[in-house]
Amino acid sequence: MNIQATLSLVLILYFANHIIASDKDVQQYLDEQEKINNFPIKHLGYQQIVDTFYQLEKEYPHYIKVYDAVQQFNNETLPKAYCSENQSPQDLCKFIYAVITNYSDPKHVNFTQSFFSGNFHGDEVVGPNVLTYMAKYILEKPDLNILSKSFIVILPMSNPQGYSNNNREECSLKNGKYNCIDINRDFPYDTSERECFQSVGARIINFIWKKYLFTAAITFHGGMTAIGWPWGSTNHMISRSKGEISPDQNAFYTLGKRMSEIGGQYPNIPKYGYDILNDIVYPVKGSFEDWSYAASWERQIDPSFSSFFPKCQGISEEELYISESTARSLTYLIETTDLKSPGEHTYGTWQQIQRNDKGQGHVTRNIRLTLDFINNLSPSYEVATHKSANYTFYVKWAAEGCHQVSNTKLLVRESDLQSNTANNTYYSLQQLLDDGFKIYQEYTDYQGKVKDITSFKSQIIEFDDPRDRVIDIAIFSECDSFLTEKNSYAKPTIEPQSHFVRSRSNDSYIAENNGFFINSNKYIIKSLGPFQVSNYSLYTEPGTNQTDTSQSKNDYDYLIALFSIITVGALISYCIYKKFDSLGANNISFQELHNEDHQLQQLPKSQQQQQQQNQQKKVYNRDGGVNQYQLSQEEDGL
Ligand SMILES: [Zn+2]
Repeated sequence: MNIQATLSLVLILYFANHIIASDKDVQQYLDEQEKINNFPIKHLGYQQIVDTFYQLEKEYPHYIKVYDAVQQFNNETLPKAYCSENQSPQDLCKFIYAVITNYSDPKHVNFTQSFFSGNFHGDEVVGPNVLTYMAKYILEKPDLNILSKSFIVILPMSNPQGYSNNNREECSLKNGKYNCIDINRDFPYDTSERECFQSVGARIINFIWKKYLFTAAITFHGGMTAIGWPWGSTNHMISRSKGEISPDQNAFYTLGKRMSEIGGQYPNIPKYGYDILNDIVYPVKGSFEDWSYAASWERQIDPSFSSFFPKCQGISEEELYISESTARSLTYLIETTDLKSPGEHTYGTWQQIQRNDKGQGHVTRNIRLTLDFINNLSPSYEVATHKSANYTFYVKWAAEGCHQVSNTKLLVRESDLQSNTANNTYYSLQQLLDDGFKIYQEYTDYQGKVKDITSFKSQIIEFDDPRDRVIDIAIFSECDSFLTEKNSYAKPTIEPQSHFVRSRSNDSYIAENNGFFINSNKYIIKSLGPFQVSNYSLYTEPGTNQTDTSQSKNDYDYLIALFSIITVGALISYCIYKKFDSLGANNISFQELHNEDHQLQQLPKSQQQQQQQNQQKKVYNRDGGVNQYQLSQEEDGL
C-alpha cells in the first residue's frame, strides 16, 4: 500500500470512528476493526525474527524471556556460524530461544514443558514464521489459559545461518574450515561418531534439552505435507518400505491425528497425512525425533541398542551425558508445505488463527494446531462460575487436554470458615476424601470423548441452610487411561516410555531435571470455593410469621449450585480461543448455556412446590443443627 492510500485509509477510519460515536453504527465499526485486526501475515527475515522476540520480551517481561543460546552455552569448541558476509564477532548468528510461561506464578516450574524448533533446514521457511507469530499471539491474548499451565520453549531458528542465506544446511567455520551440515542428521542416534554434534544447531538443541525437561516437541520442515513421529530411523525398519512402531504409538497416533484435524483442510491446503516417519517420510540416520524420544531409555532396555548411540568426535562426555529424564519426548516432525518457500500470500491472515474456515493459511493453521497440541499436554478443567441474584451458583466445566475422560465424580464439602482449607492442591481422590470432601455424584457411565461436543449433563445441588458454613466443590476425572495400554506390536515390546504416557498411567509419577518437574496427569482435579452466603442480616427469625415466599427468596440464606459438564469437542480449544466464560464464535458460549440453564430453572410443578417447601423449611428451621443437603436434581436437563 502506498502512502497516499494509507493516509486515505487512516482518514476513512478516523471518520468511521467519528460517525460511530454519533450514529451508533456498531456493525460498521466492527467491520472496520476486523479489517485492521485481520492483517495478512508477512514473511519475517532472520533479523526481523530476532527483533520481534526481543520486542516481545520488552513488552511482556512477566511472560517471556529471550536468551542467546551461544552466549549462554559459552563453549569454545562450538563452530562459528555467521549470518552476514563479515566474520566479525557481531556477525555471528544469534541462536535465540524464548521461554514463554507465567513467571509470576511460582508453580511455573511444574508446568508442562514443550519444545518447538522453527527450522533445521534453512530453506524451509514456514516454521520460523509459525513460531514467531505464535509467540505474539499467545502474549497478546493473556486471557488464553495456555499461559496458566504451559512452559513453552521456542527456538525459532535452529539454523539461522541457513535461514538468512536460504540454504538447507548449516555452513559453519571450524578450525579455519567451512563445513556444511544437515542438522537433522547430526544427532547421536543410529549414526557414526564422526557424524554427530558437528553443527552448532544440534549442539545448541542438546544444550537446551539438558537444561529443561520436555514432555513433547514439534520441529517444522517443508517440502511435503505430513505429520510424522518416531520411529524414523534406519534401525527401525521391518522391510525396505515399512517401519516399526514405538512403545508410545497409541499416544503418538492420537495426538498426530488430532493435529491433522485441527489443522483442517481447505481449497488450496490439503489435510495433513499422519503416520510414523519411516512410513510417511523416510528413514534417516541421526534424526532429532528418534534421539529426543528414545535417548534416555532405549539403550537401557537392551545393551545391544547401545550401538545406536555413538559418542561424538570432539564432544566431551559431560556434553554428551543425558539423564534418564532428558529424552522421553513425544516428538513430532511437521512437513508444513509441499513448497519449501510457499510465498507470504499463502501464510494466512491474523484472525484465521481462531477460525477454521476459508482464507486459511500455512502459518495460521500451524499456529492453531500447535496451540492445541500444547494444550493437550496438560489436562485441566476449565470452569466458569456465575452467581445469580437468588443465590444460585452456576458451575460449568469442560475437560481439556484429554481425549477421553472417565470415572468422573462431583464432590462437595461443607465446613466452617475457620477450618476451611480452600486452595489446597489435590492429586488424588483419597486426598479429597481425607480433606472432608464427600462424593455427591458419580458419572460412571459417562465417557467423554473428543468430538462429543453435545454430551453434557447437569446437576442441581441445593444446599440446605448453609449459614455459618462454606461450601467447596471438587471435580475429579481420570484422563486418557486408554493411552497407557501396552502395544504388542511395538518395538521394543515394552510399556510406553514417554513422560506423556507415563504421567497419565502412574498416579505418583514424578520426573525431575534442574529444578523442573513433571507430575502425574492420571487424574484431573479441580476444586472450587469456598462459596459463602453473606446476606445474614436479612435472615428471618423463626416465629416472626414470615410467610411471603417471594420476599423470603431474596432474604434467606441458601445456595443452589447447578453443574454441567461439557466435553470439549475436536475443534474447540480454550487455548486458542478465550477463556471458558467468553468463548469464540466456534464455541458453545457461556451465554447460550446460561439461557439453557434458565430453562432448567422452570422446574416441573411438583419440584417447584418441593423447592418452595424447602425454602420455607430453611426459613423456619434455622436451628436445625445438622446440615443435611436437601437435594433436588435434574439429569440431562441441558
Ligand atoms: Zn526439512
